[in-house]
Amino acid sequence: MALYESLPLEDGAQISTVRFIAFDQLGHDSKIIRSIDKASDLLLFIESDENLRGKRWHIQRLFFLISSARHFSRELAAAGYRVLYLRSESFSDALDKVDAALPNSMKVAMEPASFRLHRTLLDHGYRLLENDLFLTAKEEFKEWAASKKSLLMENFYRAQRIRLNILMDGDQPLGGTWNLDHDNRLPPPKNHIWPEYLRHERDEIDGEVIKELRAGYPNLWGDDPDQSWATTRSGALRQLEHFLAHHLKDFGPLEDAMPRAEESWQVHHSLLSPYLNNGLLHPREVIDRAIARFEEGDIPLSSIEGFVRQIIGWREYVYGIYWLFGEEYRKENRLRATRPLLPLFHEPKRTKMACVNDIVTSVEKRAWVHHIPRLMVLSNLALLTGIDPEEFLDWMSEVFIDAYDWVMVPNVIGMGVHADGGRMMTKPYAAGGAYISRMSNHCKGCVFDPKTRSETDSCPFTTLYWDFLDRHREEFSKNHRIAQQVRGLDRLKDLDQLRERAREVLSGLSNGTL
Ligand SMILES: Cc1cc2nc3c(=O)[nH]c(=O)nc-3n(C[C@H](O)[C@H](O)[C@H](O)COP(=O)(O)OP(=O)(O)OC[C@H]3O[C@@H](n4cnc5c(N)ncnc54)[C@H](O)[C@@H]3O)c2cc1C
Ligand code: SF4
Repeated sequence: MALYESLPLEDGAQISTVRFIAFDQLGHDSKIIRSIDKASDLLLFIESDENLRGKRWHIQRLFFLISSARHFSRELAAAGYRVLYLRSESFSDALDKVDAALPNSMKVAMEPASFRLHRTLLDHGYRLLENDLFLTAKEEFKEWAASKKSLLMENFYRAQRIRLNILMDGDQPLGGTWNLDHDNRLPPPKNHIWPEYLRHERDEIDGEVIKELRAGYPNLWGDDPDQSWATTRSGALRQLEHFLAHHLKDFGPLEDAMPRAEESWQVHHSLLSPYLNNGLLHPREVIDRAIARFEEGDIPLSSIEGFVRQIIGWREYVYGIYWLFGEEYRKENRLRATRPLLPLFHEPKRTKMACVNDIVTSVEKRAWVHHIPRLMVLSNLALLTGIDPEEFLDWMSEVFIDAYDWVMVPNVIGMGVHADGGRMMTKPYAAGGAYISRMSNHCKGCVFDPKTRSETDSCPFTTLYWDFLDRHREEFSKNHRIAQQVRGLDRLKDLDQLRERAREVLSGLSNGTL
């Protein structure tokens, strides 16, 4: 076993190629690992202190990233690879040290999944190999986008189904339809028996990482890691099998449902995004296993189609959009939103809004909630209150276990808060309390009433929804997908009262008193 933790290498080994592995590239079968020469190549991991400081990271996010990388590097060393795991003040410092110690070695890395790291590696002379942890190369996505007038995800998804030959019957979609979303909008069912959560035992490496994080970084947010997240490939594989055995069947119909966290925080979602995003699982193996499970016969088409759509559709689409729209995309702010982040995003007890309180508390507990709370509650709140998109993006990136630049930027800037003016999604995902009331169990226990809009106990989402349309009346009346709702403003007899109430709500949310 050759695991080095400092330079120069103490046994003076001659290294012909240094192969850098980023913390989101832990693929056991990636090209960079497969093409390695065990005798003369060195695998380089860098744990940089500067990446841990300065932000209010969720402890579970850092724990997951670091512990997974430490486990993976040790597994590689145990399998006979030469591994250098450097801990350093800064990332660039570490690359400089490697350069100085091994000046004659070639430097190779897999294309990273962020603009920033891409630049840093090129500046340090690394040759970049294609990132094979996705199913669609970014150039392939660019070609698809160039051939289309509109970048509708649905069209991309259909092209993916055909290209990858997934759920196809010849050249037609299996079951005769591409999209079963209309079957997949059920609210939380009554008296449903939710499966047990899979627990992941913590080991010595996990314990060591938690201890170091708590001792060295007092500014972290969130609860200490429990047993929700695995930090090894074997744990990730167990999570995949658990999902296929206990959740895939009901995944589709209940994928938008929002029970309270104490009923089920997982619902029937897979909890696979952390492992797909750090490379412990490959999307191809996840799809292959899911299709094999479907072929056993008891999984409805609406569930397998819904799941496949997430992986080969949404995930690959968002990756393509990140590279297509470029580095400046994260700064878009077409709705001119400038409000600072609301206190409730770090202190959920400071709001009486039952849904928001429950969901932010759930994020605090385990750094995860599924796509509908992310979109229709958290982002919806940021959109309607006009929070500065970059501040909201930073918060989302700091607190979610599966956040990386390529995935968070389009999901927040394009989908969540419509800061790009519709380049990615044609209309804003804005909704009042009626949507949350229909799709969740939160409203029953809430002090607010989702059905009214201008009373002192009206649901803040409902008040702010109309106020948001009113504030952006001019630009939205030109958007045919939302113009009809804007016209609805003319029928509101209580518009003045509503505007007044909206001012109170906005100020209460900004002060942390509502
Ligand atoms: C505002 C907002 C922010 C989001 N931020 C992230 C993020 O930082 N990282 C992240 O992985 N996902 C993000 N998503 C997408 C989605 O919420 C998560 O992928 C999902 O909740 C992860 O849980 P799961 O693995 O149980 O997903 P499942 O519901 O089981 O879905 C299966 C897989 O599909 C993929 N997927 C589904 N939707 C998306 C999407 N919109 N973008 C990318 N992948 C998708 C994920 O890999 C996920 O694991 C975001 C969505 C929204 C609306
Ligand atoms: S009434 Fe409004 S604030 Fe309260 S839980 Fe329902 S949607 Fe959320």
